Amino acid sequence: LVSRKRKSEDTIVDINGHKIGDGTPSFIYGPCAVESYEQVLAVAQSIKAKGLTMIRGGAYKPRTSPYDFQGLGLEGLKILKRVADETGLSVVTEIITPSHLEEALEYIDVIQIGARNMQNFELLKEAGMVKKPVLLKRGLAATIDEFIHAAEYIISKGNSEIILCERGIRTYERATRNTLDISAVPILKQETHLPVFVDVTHSTGRKDLLLPTAKAAIAVGADGVMAEVHPDPAVALSDSAQQMDLQQFDDFYDAIQKFMKTYQTT
Ligand code: PEP
Ligand code: MN
Repeated sequence: LVSRKRKSEDTIVDINGHKIGDGTPSFIYGPCAVESYEQVLAVAQSIKAKGLTMIRGGAYKPRTSPYDFQGLGLEGLKILKRVADETGLSVVTEIITPSHLEEALEYIDVIQIGARNMQNFELLKEAGMVKKPVLLKRGLAATIDEFIHAAEYIISKGNSEIILCERGIRTYERATRNTLDISAVPILKQETHLPVFVDVTHSTGRKDLLLPTAKAAIAVGADGVMAEVHPDPAVALSDSAQQMDLQQFDDFYDAIQKFMKTYQTT
């Protein structure tokens, strides 16, 4: 059902009136993890000031170590909802287990399924049964075919509002946190009718590569870019090395806008 052969027109995912996949790149920014109301609000205000419509932030964090910050859970969802109500932004946040899904629905606008859960088939099936868009990230070591099949699990249960997100894969290369598989973007666009995002933060793990990879993503036809922004990355409870601060975010945003203008006219 996700195949282009079954449906030739692009799927456009509507997030409270904002259209993803309509030909104009969309952007999802926000902190790695929800840490406090003030932290989320500061990022939200910066996003809002740019005329953007979505914020991301994890309330449930699937961390490599069980001793690392695991997220604020339901309290984090409530913070996201409060900020969303105050700013008019839509919330994109990760759900890591089917048992959290139902109670989360009233707080969120997009269900993110993270790389570590791309083949959590029960979660995929549950996400397929609700009426909310799903942002599905590619698994750390998933082939494109496995990624497409994971999306098929969701659509097979009735939910076709799916955004695919390339976020880098595990290779032998250690210069970047993961290896951004940029060619996955045009392949996914050819093989499926779903919109495709690129997460430049988790794929590179390097602030100096956010801009060039975001440009590359747009140049190869991505429908959007995700990146992490934190008011004070040095004290962030997760991914502190790779999140942009608000000034870096302003500069990044301006550079992307400039790039899109020149890109569209050439
Ligand atoms: C995230 O986006 O918060 C995240 C944990 O990313 P990934 O699942 O791609 O590692
Ligand atoms: Mn992160």
